[in-house]
Amino acid sequence: MISKVSPHFLFSVDLEDVRDMVPNGMMYTPKVPELTKKYLDFLKEKKSFATFFVVGSLARKYPDLIKLIRDEGHELGCHSDKHLPVSTQNQEDFRSDLEANINALKKAGVNNIYGYRAPTFSLTEEVSWVYPILEEFNLTYSSSVLPARNPLFGWPGFGDLPKKVGAITEVPITLSGTSILNVPFAGGVYLRALPYPLIDYFFKKAIRRTAVTSYIHPYDIDTEQEPFMHPYINDNKFYNFLLYYNRKNALSRISKLVKKFELNIIPYKQYIDSL
Ligand SMILES: [Zn+2]
Repeated sequence: MISKVSPHFLFSVDLEDVRDMVPNGMMYTPKVPELTKKYLDFLKEKKSFATFFVVGSLARKYPDLIKLIRDEGHELGCHSDKHLPVSTQNQEDFRSDLEANINALKKAGVNNIYGYRAPTFSLTEEVSWVYPILEEFNLTYSSSVLPARNPLFGWPGFGDLPKKVGAITEVPITLSGTSILNVPFAGGVYLRALPYPLIDYFFKKAIRRTAVTSYIHPYDIDTEQEPFMHPYINDNKFYNFLLYYNRKNALSRISKLVKKFELNIIPYKQYIDSL
């Protein structure tokens, strides 16, 4: 008899402070520790472990928060030191930024670091020199590619399944949809803004093929954040409206999906080891 294995759900938090990326950001209320604890409580309630990709500057600011995430059994990985898209860096800049990111995590007490996520999924074919550098730092996987054409970044043709690039396993962000709308539906603004039945349908399509990857930020559940223009959206007011939309239901939507599809939330490292 074949035993039923729950599909894997790679729920991950991109741990960054959006205030660091907007003009005069420090005038807004600091919320990262409080919001991160909400994610930790959510995961504890689900008896699950996830991956937190952490920006180095945040690890330096909140070392106790990093230790708390570690002590609760979650995986911590890199999300760059200053949250600059890879395309704005040359190889030397990238190398020193990654080194600073790793040192910040180590200083906060994280000893086992395996994974990398590029800011805003900015790992594209043009900057694939990133992979040997990840290898230099003994990382083993990345989840940084959006495998389609995209207004911001994207690597069409990469394919939608995990694959090795040199020694690094790349787990691309899961896309699903239709011929006209193919989006990273299980994370961030899409998860909140698309009608729920559509998310449910996209999820059903994707989970048949592979583990679904999801990414979420502290601000995605911040229902009290002051209004300001978010970074990386070219001052697009409609997109900024969507960035604030339906934050109160982000976690309940994930709960609903986990329950319906009997998903097993696991850290990336555990998934990579199972491949
Ligand atoms: Zn980020």
